[in-house]
This record gives sequence, structure tokens and C-alpha cells, in this order.
Amino acid sequence: MKRGADRYEFASDNTASICPEAWDALQRANADKAAPSYGDDRWTGQASHLVREMFEIDCEVFLVFNGTAANALALAQLCQPFHSVICHEHAHIQTDECGAPEFFSGSKLLVTRGANGKIDIDEAEATILRQPELHSPKPRAISITQATELGTVYTTDEIRALNEFARKRSLFLHMDGARFANAVSSLGCAPKALTWEIGVDVLCFGGTKNGIGAGELVIFFKKELAREFDYRVKQAGQLASKMRFLAAPWVGLLTGAVWLHHAEHANRAARQLAEQLRSEAKIDIVFPVEANAIFVRMNEQLVRGLHERGWDFYKFIEPDVYRLMCSWSVTEADIADFVGDIVALKRNEEAKH
Ligand SMILES: *Cc1c(COP(=O)(O)O)cnc(C)c1O
Repeated sequence: MKRGADRYEFASDNTASICPEAWDALQRANADKAAPSYGDDRWTGQASHLVREMFEIDCEVFLVFNGTAANALALAQLCQPFHSVICHEHAHIQTDECGAPEFFSGSKLLVTRGANGKIDIDEAEATILRQPELHSPKPRAISITQATELGTVYTTDEIRALNEFARKRSLFLHMDGARFANAVSSLGCAPKALTWEIGVDVLCFGGTKNGIGAGELVIFFKKELAREFDYRVKQAGQLASKMRFLAAPWVGLLTGAVWLHHAEHANRAARQLAEQLRSEAKIDIVFPVEANAIFVRMNEQLVRGLHERGWDFYKFIEPDVYRLMCSWSVTEADIADFVGDIVALKRNEEAKH
């Protein structure tokens, strides 16, 4: 049985190590005896240049330490304290950021619903209509997560429809792209076709779950929206003084579309894992597997057995839905080990009856 350092963890895609391309870029950045601080270095310049190339637009690019800060500051930039932000009930900004978007923006999150982790426009409309005008915070933005927290992906048509809804209601469109790379890989389209071409105003583009150690991008596709955002970043304690060490790993990811290769690998692994869980272990898969996450229904006994065998993962939805994540570093052998353990545990369970 593998333990500790040798074992792949399906608990999340942020349990993975730093990918070789990011590591190599970090080492190259560290070869300079000195470099300008606070983002005036060539690595930060290069990372921003590569982002503009990737999205095929002259956008404003900022680097912060993590995804919570990226979302919170992006939304703070769009909203006043008397505004509200529409998001899905499973949105990371609602469930996993300790109120940071509300704290930094002063605005209120308006939670809405929809199947498979995606906002349903009729539900969003109903959520807005329940707010008495003037007496409740004015809806100012709609935030969508791509890929979603439930491992699904909004199609370009779905985002286009959300954008039409947003424009009609004078809402900004924010995209939490902690797993944006996985969504691009899943849909096989150009990054611009998933963002500014269909109305996304600001994208929080995650690198951590794609293979770097830290550092997430906030990208404003309309430059005027980024006015004084640099001050907001600094005030929030999110301006890295040795920024080149956040930027260099991004250069590693963005050069030669490494980000896309990692996402392809992770998505393919998730499909394989889902397929093997279904066919070999007769495990029920709960949501469509469209990115790098799989949600499975498992009984407590099986989960206990897997935990005893050293597999770490956790319950996502009560009473019995667990999340498994694949990252750039998972191998076919890891998947075979995991599925093999499930098959063995189920066989033992059946033998007892
Ligand atoms: C991981 C994640 C983030 C960022 O989380 P941090 O831990 O703050 O870096 C944001 N959104 C989603 C959907 C995520 O999964």
C-alpha cells in the first residue's frame, strides 16, 4: 500500500505538486541575481504579454496570491456596497471564501439555483424579482464558475444567453475560472470564444489547480474597468513584492500552451476514472463528467475502507456524494490502484453477506 509522499490524492486538484514547466521557470527566474520589485520585472511583463496573446486582446492583467483574493477584489471592483452579486448556491464565492467577496466589496451575494452547478436564467430572473427595488441591494453583477464546482461546463451558448440576460439588467459578467483551463479543454474552443467575445467582463484565471504553486490572474477585458485596481490589490495585501516568483510559473504554463496540455490530461483522466468506476466498480456517477471532477455516491462502509487504505477525499454533498479530482499529475496507475481498491473492498463486503 502506498502511503504519504508516493500517493496520489483525489481530494482536490490543489493537492498536486508543482508541474515541471513551472518549476523550471521558477529556477530560471531565480538565476537573476536581482530584478525590479512589485511587478516591474521582465517575468511579470512576459506573463502579461502571454495572457494577451492567449486571449487575443489588449486586456489588463493582475497577479494576486490566490483565487479567493482574485474573486473578492474583482467583484469589489465592479460593485458598490449597496449592490448585489448573483451567483449559484454551490458557487465557491458563496460556499468557500469565508465571505471575502462580501467583505471586500461590501455588496451582498444573491444566491440562485440551477441544475448541475450552472445558473438557470429563469431562477436568476426570479431571484432578482424577489428583491424589492430600492429597499434591497441593487443587482450589479452575475458571477459564473467555469468549469463549475460540480465538474460541469457552461457551453458558449449558455454563457451568451447569460450575457444577454446580464446586459438587459445592466449587470457585469464575472467568471470564476479557477478551472478555466479545464473548461477550454472540454469545449475545444479559443479562450476568447469563452470570455470577452461573449460578454465576460472580468475573468479570474486560476493556475494553482493547473500546476503552479501560487498566483492567480485577474483579467479585465475592458481596460476602463481596471481603473485603480492596482491600489485595491495593494490595499488588500495582495501585491507581491518579489512578483517575478508568482509570474515565472505562469510563463511556464502559458508558453507552448502547457496549461492546455495539463487540463487535457486532467480531463482525460477524469473520464477514464469515471468510466472505470462505472464499469468495474459499479459506482454511481452523480453529475456529467465534463472537466476534471467526478462526483460519486458511496456508502459509509466503502468510504471508511478507502480511508483506511490511505485514500484521502471528502464528502461534498450530504448524505453520500463524494468528490474526486484529477490533476496534471495523476497517472493511469493511480487510477487503476484506486479503482482496484474499491473493487476489492466491495468484494469483501459482498463476501460477508
Ligand atoms: C479553488 C477555487 C478557487 C480559489 O481558491 P483559493 O483557495 O482561494 O485559491 C476559486 N474558485 C473555485 C471554483 C475553486 O475551486
